[in-house]
Amino acid sequence: MRKYVIMGVPGSGKSTQAALLAADLDLVQISVGDIFRWNVQNHTKMGAQVRRIMAAGELVGDDLAEAVTAERLAQHDWNFGFVIDGFPRNRRQAEFFLETYDIDAIIVLDLPDSEIRRRVLNRRLCVGCGINYNLIDSTPAVPGRCDACGGELTTREDDTEEALAVRLRTYHEKTNPVLDLFRRKEYVITVDARPVPDAVQAEIRQQLGLPPQKPQDSQESQESQKSQEPQESQESQKSQGSQGSGSA
Ligand code: AMP
Repeated sequence: MRKYVIMGVPGSGKSTQAALLAADLDLVQISVGDIFRWNVQNHTKMGAQVRRIMAAGELVGDDLAEAVTAERLAQHDWNFGFVIDGFPRNRRQAEFFLETYDIDAIIVLDLPDSEIRRRVLNRRLCVGCGINYNLIDSTPAVPGRCDACGGELTTREDDTEEALAVRLRTYHEKTNPVLDLFRRKEYVITVDARPVPDAVQAEIRQQLGLPPQKPQDSQESQESQKSQEPQESQESQKSQGSQGSGSA
């Protein structure tokens, strides 16, 4: 059983790295942001509650974020463990998390602010399959359309200059201090998030003492290198979202 948390500024590649780690270790990937986004896209009661907060780049209330996370983890579908990104985001959430789950390691993706802006403002999200594209490294064959499913590519509502400024400030003010708490209690590793995704993944595994990525996962991830933060499949978001919506 392996239980990991991935933390890092917006655009640092948390989802990408969580997906690569989860793939061949049979971990369940849990993204709290994806659960909220699913609810917004599907116009649930929770979606209506969080939409404006998310678009402004602010944090959703702790009670709701904790309920969504607890409810998702309570499914206990993670026989081999889980990797969670997007939680905890502040001290209260970290204390809740530490009281409830014992974590093997916290993975911190480190990226300079100048690079974050470049990545986030060039990120596009496929409404069909949820893959994220980074237009800096690769443009889709048909502009505005996903190479994988042909779906429309949109900009995340919170990937704007204004919302990014708020998200970065929130990260530095509220999320960063959580690391001090973790450093005292848990095993924290810090990884340079600037290299290509496979290189970042290799470094994570090396620091955690895990086996290297299996070749086919590595190959798939070449495909996803156009994406710094591909999300989970629509189906998986659906199941996460429907779970999450119960706590609205
Ligand atoms: P992310 O995809 O992790 O960048 O999350 C997108 C947005 O979802 C954040 O900017 C917050 O509005 C909300 N969110 C995600 N996780 C949390 C959390 N743990 N606590 C509060 N809000 C969250």
